[in-house]
Amino acid sequence: MSSKDWIEKDYYAALGVDKSASSDDIKKSYRKLARESHPDHNPGDTGAEERFKTVSEAYAVLGDEKKRREYDEMRSLFGSGAFRRGARGAGQPGGAPFDVSDLFGGGGAGGADTRFGGGGFTDLFSTIFSGGGGGGAARPRGPARGRDVEAEVALDFSDAVRGVTLPLTLRAPGVCDTCHGNGAKPGTQPVACPVCHGAGVTTRNQGSFSFSEPCRNCQGVGTIVEEKCPECHGTGGVTKTRTLTVRFPAGVADGQRIRLAGRGEPGERGGPAGDLFVHVKVRPDELFGRTGDDLTLNVPITYAEAVLGTDLRVPTLDGTVTLRVPPGTPAGRVLRARGKGVVRKDGRVGDLLVTLDVVVPATVSDEARAALETFAAQTPPAAREHLEARVRRFS
Ligand SMILES: [Zn+2]
Ligand SMILES: [Zn+2]
Repeated sequence: MSSKDWIEKDYYAALGVDKSASSDDIKKSYRKLARESHPDHNPGDTGAEERFKTVSEAYAVLGDEKKRREYDEMRSLFGSGAFRRGARGAGQPGGAPFDVSDLFGGGGAGGADTRFGGGGFTDLFSTIFSGGGGGGAARPRGPARGRDVEAEVALDFSDAVRGVTLPLTLRAPGVCDTCHGNGAKPGTQPVACPVCHGAGVTTRNQGSFSFSEPCRNCQGVGTIVEEKCPECHGTGGVTKTRTLTVRFPAGVADGQRIRLAGRGEPGERGGPAGDLFVHVKVRPDELFGRTGDDLTLNVPITYAEAVLGTDLRVPTLDGTVTLRVPPGTPAGRVLRARGKGVVRKDGRVGDLLVTLDVVVPATVSDEARAALETFAAQTPPAAREHLEARVRRFS
């Protein structure tokens, strides 16, 4: 049973009772109709079977005090059938998916947010009819799903590598608890809009065409609030602050989006909650870089160290490691410290990749210069023969 059913179906008529009927009257009428139409008493009568279903469905709502209240609220809020008429007028024959954004030219969720803080009529509808997602394609019917919520979190480099649990405070629009979103002072109800008589749309004639547009007096809602809810000042929405704890797994990367199913806004009227999407920013580290699960580090060494070899003690994210630079190591060589990168829960382990930068001193002492000149005299020139042919072309 969907919200749409609630708007389209007159459960009072189905049970043959008045809107003001007491719960006893409703129960009595249901029992009588259910007995009369029960399939056991009417074998083979499909009409009776249909009636029995209709009566049961109506009683499932009206027989439940809470559901009945919500049903009444929704019917009074949307006027009976007004939007269905509008949707057909907008070119959707009966049976086609109902999409209010077609009717009002809104962009679906994420579009103009008028009712909650400035008019968010589209929003209210997307909450009730589909929840979160976004406009466009046909959405699954069903009870009102809460909206998705987006949040951004900046993590320290090392927290992202190791994983971290952080409290996250969200401020997001939600349905007012005091008036349950209808904007009316408790004890009062919104009343039918005098301009559109509850239809939510007004019709304008131009030549042989007639155009339907949302009623300006009630912003298409079909009702107006005479005594405003003190909590939300009649908008039906309030900004709510929630704090929740979010676990960021080891190895979470900059730009990654983490989805926490069901941690978005609570569903409307018992519907499922939306999702929370957390966009992760990772602050850069002054020493380490990261490629996937590997950490990277540049380490300067002298020419002498590259030629003669050395042991290098370098930092890791949570300690140090000693790496052997063998004699005759070329510039740019990458050494690997196994297991010193991201350690994931599932057992995957990254490494620390150390790139050796051979640094050339800008100035040297006289002794060093003398030693280098001796060194140069003892060393064959670099192998550049493969360049000679090209060089000769231009000489
Ligand atoms: Zn309110
Ligand atoms: Zn109106």
